[in-house]
Amino acid sequence: MDASERKENLIAHLKQEGYLKTKKVEEAFRKIPRENFLPKELEAIAYSDHPLPIGSGQTISAPHMVAIMTELLEPVRTDSVLEIGAGSGYQAAILSPLVRKVFTIEFFPELASLARKNLSRTGIKNVEVIPGDGSKGYPKDAPYDKIIVTCAIPQEIFSSLGKQLKEGGILVAPVGPAYGIQMLTTSRKTHGKLEKKEYFGCVFVPLRQ
Ligand code: SAH
Repeated sequence: MDASERKENLIAHLKQEGYLKTKKVEEAFRKIPRENFLPKELEAIAYSDHPLPIGSGQTISAPHMVAIMTELLEPVRTDSVLEIGAGSGYQAAILSPLVRKVFTIEFFPELASLARKNLSRTGIKNVEVIPGDGSKGYPKDAPYDKIIVTCAIPQEIFSSLGKQLKEGGILVAPVGPAYGIQMLTTSRKTHGKLEKKEYFGCVFVPLRQ
């Protein structure tokens, strides 16, 4: 089986399980080669539905988690999106054809360079990788239409990120203890407040502070 067949099998699985819900997110999965965001030796298993190591003790999220979080973000063409935790750059790459601009922050400088390299070899131009600590968001280009957090954040950080979100904007984040089980949440900013919905337990790498 070649990479494109493996990719189609994965997409079929993600649709069948209800993780991929909309045609446009499905198309983004079809368009972005996940192998471009993995170390060479893991390319052969790029289309298995697992998180995989990307260096510095960090992981690229499993495709089903990327699908779930991308759908929860309800991406639209005009969106300006902030991501906290660029990692390999894959989640930002999936968002790139769906939105206007993605700002993605990465704590480890070597991963920020890796994400930049992976995005550039994939021909992506509307993602800006910012090396640094995203625990205070990224006030420079705030407010954002959407914010996605791909590392585990405590409640206080969750609340403070709301300030960088536009009214009506959506924040998707795993909220809970650094080591343990977090709750995947999605919140809409309504009358200046985050209205939070909890989805299910999940495990993300911790936010560094
Ligand atoms: N979205 C990534 C997966 C990220 S894993 C992908 O598609 O590959 C979570 C990432 O969050 C890790 O790379 C980790 O280094 C980063 N991270 C942890 N704490 C952070 C912080 N304070 N600011 C920015 N990034 C952080």
